[in-house]
Amino acid sequence: MPLHRRIADAVLTTDPVQRMRLSQAGLAMLLMAAGVVAMQYFVAVGAAPAGPVHLWTAASLGGMVVFFILIRSGWSRRLDDPSLTLAQMMYAISSGAAAYALVGEGRGGVFPIVMVVVAFGLFQLRPREFSAVGLFAVGLFGVVMATMAHLKPAVYPPRVELGHFLMIATMMPAMALLAARFSALRQRLRQQKHDLSHALARIQELATRDELTGLVNRRHMQTLIEQAHRRCARSGQSFCLAVLDVDHFKAVNDNHGHATGDEVLRSVAQEMQTTVRLSDTLARWGGEEFVLMMSDTHAPLARGGLERLRERVAQLCVLVPEGELRISVSAGLAEHRPGESVEDTLARADAALLEAKQQGRNRVVLAP
Ligand code: GH3
Ligand code: MG
Ligand code: MG
Repeated sequence: MPLHRRIADAVLTTDPVQRMRLSQAGLAMLLMAAGVVAMQYFVAVGAAPAGPVHLWTAASLGGMVVFFILIRSGWSRRLDDPSLTLAQMMYAISSGAAAYALVGEGRGGVFPIVMVVVAFGLFQLRPREFSAVGLFAVGLFGVVMATMAHLKPAVYPPRVELGHFLMIATMMPAMALLAARFSALRQRLRQQKHDLSHALARIQELATRDELTGLVNRRHMQTLIEQAHRRCARSGQSFCLAVLDVDHFKAVNDNHGHATGDEVLRSVAQEMQTTVRLSDTLARWGGEEFVLMMSDTHAPLARGGLERLRERVAQLCVLVPEGELRISVSAGLAEHRPGESVEDTLARADAALLEAKQQGRNRVVLAP
């Protein structure tokens, strides 16, 4: 990993949410540093008193560092807003108000900085919180302006301060309106994200499930079998594949109609699905044919499970308009041999199924 990545990981952590909070706090710190540079400039040109500005610098930068530490240490996680956005904004606005009182003629430079501080809240605060911050800013600056106009009317003439106050008092509601729009936008994005993930889940469902029976479809089953194959090749465990086919299903369609045939397929699928083990996967392979994958099992045990499945279907009574229908399935079972391809295992199961049909149906035949 490159060095700058490693440093970023060490400072900002690798947790994406925490990273976002910390990079925001870091940005706020940089902004504060820019304000400090501006203040030091005013000291250098003799517009601001050195001592108070140094104190202000220590408090302002130190405060932002403390915020960063509170977030980085995880302490802020116990709060409602672990990003401390609101607190950081209040602190930065207070620092701006103090700078306004210190810097005299250069105080016009404080306004854009305060606006950037307020802009931080656009992305995170709820409209109500944002309005509270706006009111706080207007109130605090109002008090500072009135006090300075009173204490130093030569540098802070009351008529100029009134103009400044009116400016900040009209800008804040405008920002609050913007914040409300941002908040609505965020809400809409959240809703869209929610809708999209639902649509995605639905598409995944459609892509992997058979519509008639709700079982895994053939394409997805092929993927699952390949995955099991790779897993078993690594672990040395065995798995079995069975191909099942409904007996004389054509007769069901011919005698009762296609819709009843569909209903029978659904019932058989449901019965089998409730019978198989949780670790087994049953898929509709096509038509009235099913494939069952039994993982981590050898043939004798798999055969027992398959026999149980066959019996359950044989006992099943499907209600049709003409009365009750009895159904049976035949199955061919093959245990995967190490080194064998999945296709070959399936072909052996298919051959065993053919044998089961030839032996008279409603039975399980194990592939040699
Ligand atoms: P066997 O015991 O030898 O399997 O006889 P069978 O009649 O079941 O065999 P065959 O393969 O000749 O017939 C399968 C029939 O299944 C043919 C087809 O019309 C029907 N079928 C395939 N898919 C569907 C389906 O989705 N719905 C319905 N209702 N019938 C289907
Ligand atoms: Mg068939
Ligand atoms: Mg059949």
